[in-house]
Amino acid sequence: MTKKHYYNVVIVGGGISGTALLYTLAKYTNIKDIALFEKYDDFATLNSNAKGNSQTLHCGDIETNYTLDKAIKTNKTATMLENYGKLYGYEEKYMFKIPKMAIGVGEKEVQFIKDRYEAFKDAFPYMEYWDKAKLAEIEPALLEGRDENEDIAAMGTDKRYSAINFGEMSKSFVRNAQKENPNIDIHLNKEIQDIKKIGDKFELSVDGKHYYADYVVVDAGAHSLLLAHRMGHGLDFSCLPVGGSFYYSKVDSLKSKVYTIQNPKLPFAAIHGDPDIIHNNVIRFGPTAIVLPKLERYHHAHFLDFIETLAPSTEVLEVFYDLMRDSDIREYAIKNFLYEVPGVRKKLFVKEVQKIVPSMKEDDIEFAEGIGGLRPQVIDKKTKKLFLGEAKIETGEGIVFNMTPSPGATSCLGNAFTDAKLISKYLGVTFDIKMFERELVS
Ligand SMILES: Cc1cc2nc3c(=O)[nH]c(=O)nc-3n(C[C@H](O)[C@H](O)[C@H](O)COP(=O)(O)OP(=O)(O)OC[C@H]3O[C@@H](n4cnc5c(N)ncnc54)[C@H](O)[C@@H]3O)c2cc1C
Repeated sequence: MTKKHYYNVVIVGGGISGTALLYTLAKYTNIKDIALFEKYDDFATLNSNAKGNSQTLHCGDIETNYTLDKAIKTNKTATMLENYGKLYGYEEKYMFKIPKMAIGVGEKEVQFIKDRYEAFKDAFPYMEYWDKAKLAEIEPALLEGRDENEDIAAMGTDKRYSAINFGEMSKSFVRNAQKENPNIDIHLNKEIQDIKKIGDKFELSVDGKHYYADYVVVDAGAHSLLLAHRMGHGLDFSCLPVGGSFYYSKVDSLKSKVYTIQNPKLPFAAIHGDPDIIHNNVIRFGPTAIVLPKLERYHHAHFLDFIETLAPSTEVLEVFYDLMRDSDIREYAIKNFLYEVPGVRKKLFVKEVQKIVPSMKEDDIEFAEGIGGLRPQVIDKKTKKLFLGEAKIETGEGIVFNMTPSPGATSCLGNAFTDAKLISKYLGVTFDIKMFERELVS
């Protein structure tokens, strides 16, 4: 079938954000002509792929760097994805009920877990407090080889969906969107190189060909800010690409996703251990966090794109300076750099693993080559701060740019909901919010 050249809405990027929006528009709005452009030959080959992320449905209950407020908000969007999965029967296919917990080790951290459990139990009534004796029963690997005087406690649950194959979910969004609206055009292997506003339309260029749209949503990971900057939008933002790697262990240890307590100054989850949902009997430990001068983890790097997106300035330097002045962050950055250096990395990283599984030895882990993605962390130059999560540039002119570090995969339908509201208002079309809420929110 010949593809069109004019659309009501064009989505740039076929990761979980772009595909979730495609599904939302196809199912809950009356927009007729929608297209999605993806630069590679399949959906979700980068950060949204099961290899690229930690496969965790972030509900805010075990993420100790979230405030209660952020946890409640994240839980709402996590529920949307869980409800979507249930609607199509993806339980135990793309989403799994692996037990999950946040552990505290030592007196101070155990007290932290106790306090957090008390503060969170009303909003997360299914969470339980597990002391050392209970943990010995349900997750013995946490205790084996641990100094018997060292206290440990956790808050956790085995009753919720906790692990998602975000890559397969992305593909399902496309399949289900096409069933709802057969008019959708999917353009694979098409990299949008340039977007221009011409009159009240947008012109999108791909290898000398032009496509037109009334509304554009750019869900292109770290490239979103690059395309925004080229159009003169989001100039107050810089992007700091932070790679995350993992280590594998084939030693039979954890049955649960085990998160550790994070330093609240850092926008990333601390090292955790997760049973891998795409490799049987493999536990993944990670992710690490290392700033990389590129916009995609494992593809040919365009260093100039990185510089254009970082947009170095005195404000950006001030943010770096402030971060590096903090001894905790400095130590964290150095340690995480060394976790990538062959020859020393396993010896150093195993110490992180031993905080979770004390009996683990250097030879029990291996660096997971080619696994892990890149988080486009956003710096706000005006406030001179690093954003804790996702960022959106809503221009009010018919184009939106989304930058989606963690928990961006979990919140894909939450972000799609926000964008569908913006689009329907701008184009004057119908978005059946009640149906969206009935099926996905409650
Ligand atoms: C190590 C790590 C662990 C993480 N763990 C979790 C987790 O456990 N839970 C969670 O919720 N989140 C997690 N995240 C975050 C999550 O992976 C991302 O938020 C999510 O995948 C972002 O999806 P996206 O569709 O916005 O971007 P991406 O998945 O990066 O997709 C962007 C797409 O846009 C395409 N594209 C780029 N430029 C163009 C262009 N010019 N034209 C056309 N197409 C283009 C790319 O090819 C790509 O397919 C993790 C991230 C990392 C790196």
